[in-house]
Amino acid sequence: MDKVSEMYGTNVFNEKTMKERLPKETFKELEKTIQDGKPLNIKIANAVAHAMKVWAIEKGATHFTHWFQPMTGVTAEKHDSFIEPRNDGTVIMSFSGKELIKGEPDASSFPNGGLRATFEARGYTAWDPTSYAFIKDGVLCIPTAFCSYTGFALDKKTPLLRSMEAINKQALRIVKLFGHDDVKSIKTTLGPEQEYFLVDKEYYEQRKDLIYTGRTLFGAMAPKNQEMEDHYFGTIKSRVQKFMNELNEELWKLGISAKTEHNEVAPAQHELAPVFSTTNIAVDHNQLTMEIIQRVAKKHGLVALLHEKPFEGINGSGKHNNWSISTDTGINLLEPGETPSENAQFLLMLAAIIKAVDEHQDLLRLSVATAGNDHRLGANEAPPAIISIFLGDELTSILESIENDTPYIEGEHEYMRIGASVLPNFQKDTTDRNRTSPFAFTGNKFEFRMPGSALSVAQPNIMLNTVIADALQEYADILENAEDFDTTLHQLIQETLRNHKRIIFNGNGYDDSWIEEAKARGLLNLKTTVDALPYSILPENIELFERQGVLSKDEILSRYEIMMEEYTKILNIEALTMVDMAKKQILPSIIRFEKELADTILLKASVSQSLPVGYEASTLEAISNELEQANEALLTLQSDLDKLHAIDNFELAAAYVRDRIIPAMDALRKPCDKLEMLTGSEYWPFPTYGKLLFGI
Ligand code: ADP
Ligand code: MG
Repeated sequence: MDKVSEMYGTNVFNEKTMKERLPKETFKELEKTIQDGKPLNIKIANAVAHAMKVWAIEKGATHFTHWFQPMTGVTAEKHDSFIEPRNDGTVIMSFSGKELIKGEPDASSFPNGGLRATFEARGYTAWDPTSYAFIKDGVLCIPTAFCSYTGFALDKKTPLLRSMEAINKQALRIVKLFGHDDVKSIKTTLGPEQEYFLVDKEYYEQRKDLIYTGRTLFGAMAPKNQEMEDHYFGTIKSRVQKFMNELNEELWKLGISAKTEHNEVAPAQHELAPVFSTTNIAVDHNQLTMEIIQRVAKKHGLVALLHEKPFEGINGSGKHNNWSISTDTGINLLEPGETPSENAQFLLMLAAIIKAVDEHQDLLRLSVATAGNDHRLGANEAPPAIISIFLGDELTSILESIENDTPYIEGEHEYMRIGASVLPNFQKDTTDRNRTSPFAFTGNKFEFRMPGSALSVAQPNIMLNTVIADALQEYADILENAEDFDTTLHQLIQETLRNHKRIIFNGNGYDDSWIEEAKARGLLNLKTTVDALPYSILPENIELFERQGVLSKDEILSRYEIMMEEYTKILNIEALTMVDMAKKQILPSIIRFEKELADTILLKASVSQSLPVGYEASTLEAISNELEQANEALLTLQSDLDKLHAIDNFELAAAYVRDRIIPAMDALRKPCDKLEMLTGSEYWPFPTYGKLLFGI
C-alpha cells in the first residue's frame, strides 16, 4: 500500500478497526445502534470500551476524554487516565462502557445563558456513536453531545443532530412520494472550505493584539497589499509547503479527508478543503482541522490566524459551507437527474430551499453573526449581509418558464410539465461563476458563503437543516393528500416560485446597486451581529424550532444571551487591548521619537542657526498633532469602556458596543496608524503589516 493510504485513519477507531477488533455480535449491535440512533446497552458498551482501550493503549494513549463542543464554539476536553490503582501498589488500565457512553464534566464554567438557574451546574456528555473515536496527542477522544441533567442542550452538537433528524424525517416523506420506498435514511452532507492566514511566530509574539484578540487592532497598510493579485493560486513557499505537508498527514491520520490546498487572494492567506461527508462528522472534522492547523503551524515557527479579519484593508477569511442532502441509497437530492421523475424531485427540493431561504433570511443571517464576521459581511470582499440565492441564468429561466407556463426559450421551445418533461440541459459548470453570492447553487449542492473562518459550522447547518425541514414538511402535508399528484406538485412549485422569487439574484452582490434593489425587494439587510441576533427570539422562530424539535424556547433564549454576551466580551477585550497598546507602547514610543526630533532641532541650532531643520520641525509638528488626537481618542475610549462596564443588561451592553465602543476604537486607530507612517521604524514598538504579511 502507498504511504498515504497506509496512514489514513490510523488514529481513528473506525468501522474497519471495529470490525477487526469487536466480536461479530457486538459489531453488529453497534452498527445497528449507529444506524437506528438507538441507545447502546451496557453490555455492548463494555465490549466496545474494552476493545477501544486495548487499541488506544497499543497506539500509546494513556488518557481518554469526552470531546465536546460547548457554546464557546471551540471544543472542550477533560482528560482522565486509564489507570486504576490496585491494593498492591500497582495499577491496571481500565475503561468501562459507562465511561464510554456518559461523562459528567462540571458544566458551571461553560456558557449557558439563562439556563444557569435551571440546571444547577450539572451536565453530562453522551457519546455520539455516529462519529468515530480518535486519538489526538496520546488521548483517546470520544465525540460527545453535552446536555444538562434536565435535558437542555448546552452545546452545538445536540441541536445539529436534532436538525439532521428533523430533515431526515421530512425528506423521507418526500422521496416516498416519488416511489423511493427503499430509502431508509436521508442525511445532509457538508464540505467546509477553510481559510486562514499564516504569520511568523516571532512577529506574532510581539503583538498583543494578535495574542489577545487574533486580529490586528492597529497597523498602517504596507506599500504592497493584494493589488498585484499574485498570491491567489501562486507557488506555495517552501516553509508553508512543509507546514501543509505535515498538516495533511496529521489530518489524514485522523481520517479527515483533506483534499485541496492553495494560496488565497490575500498575501499569507491559504485555504484547505476536505472531501465532503455527513454533516455531523464534517462539523467534528472541521473543529479538529482548525485545532490542528494551529498546532502544526506552531511546530513550523508559524501562527495560524483563523480570525475573520486579521488585517484591515486585506481580504478576510471565510468558510464556504457546501451543503447537500443524500439518501442512504446514494442519491444526491440536489442532483438534477435525467428522468422526468428525478427532475421533479430535484425541482421540489430546489423549491423547498428557495422557500426556506426566503422565509428565514433572518435565521440564516444570524447563524453566521459574530463580532469577527461583522468585519467581513458587506465589506468589499465577502458576500453582503443580505441573503440571496444564485441559481445561474439558465436554471433561473427554466424556473421562470415553470412559473409562468411559458416555453423555455433556450431549449427546444418546450413547456416544462413537472413529472412529465425532462429538464432541458443546463450547463452545471456555469453555475459556479458568480463568486459574490452568499448562497449559490453549484450544480449538485448549495454553497453558503457567509460563514466566517472561525465559526463552528454547526450553527449554519442547524439553521439550514431546520428551515428546509420545515418547508419539506409543509410540502409533504400537501402532497400526501393530493388527488392528482403531478398537478398538485406543479402548482406547488409554481406557487413557491411566485411567492419567493425575490430571493433569487444572479447579479453582482458586491455592487452598491444591489443594496438598493434588495431593499426594494423587501429583503433583510442586517448589518451587525447586534442587529441580527434578536431575530432568533421572535415568536415565529421559537415556534419553528419547537415544531421541528431542534431547540426549545429556553434553549433559544439562553443561546441568544450567550451570543450577545460573547459579542460584547470580544469587543471589550479588543478595546482594552487597544487602550493597553496605545498607552504602554505606541504613545511612549512616539514620545521618544519626538524627543529625538526636538533634541536634534536644538542641537542643530546650537551648532549653527542657519542649519535647515525643515524635516525635523514639520515631522515634529505633524506627530504632535496626531498624538493629541490619539490622546483624545484614548480618553474617550477609556471613559466609554467605564460606561459599558456599568451596564448590566446584555442587550443594552451589546448595543452600546455597536454604537459607541466600535466608533471609539476606530477613532483611536486612525491617528495611531498615521503616527506609524510618520515614525522611524526603529521607534515603532511592534512588527508592521509589511513584516506580518510578507515576512514568511
Ligand atoms: P470550489 O468551490 O473550490 O470550486 P468544489 O465546488 O469542487 O470546489 O468543492 C468545494 C467543496 O464542496 C469540497 O469540500 C467538496 O467536497 C464539497 N462538496 C462537493 N460535493 C458535495 C456534496 N454533495 N455535499 C456537500 N459538499 C460537497
Ligand atoms: Mg467553493
